[in-house]
Amino acid sequence: MLVRLVVLAVLFYVGYRLITGLGKKKTEKKQSEKIVSEQVEDVLVEDPVCHTLLPKGQAIRLQHDDQLYFFCSEECCSRFISDKGEKK
Ligand SMILES: [Zn+2]
Repeated sequence: MLVRLVVLAVLFYVGYRLITGLGKKKTEKKQSEKIVSEQVEDVLVEDPVCHTLLPKGQAIRLQHDDQLYFFCSEECCSRFISDKGEKK
């Protein structure tokens, strides 16, 4: 009997997630619009490889060890990744 209740609860949860998931798609579109406006933001960030300062919107982003890094080019980004890889 308890198992049935658990199964019902799971089914309700999945159904709930599906419904909220459909609703989320609309908000996701709004979020992507937000990212576009964020890219216009010209906050300067430093490239950890060549130490160039560049606008955040133009930078290549990389999430590494819960930290966000910004690079001036794909080259610096891959160089950073390979440097980190060698240390490990
Ligand atoms: Zn660079």
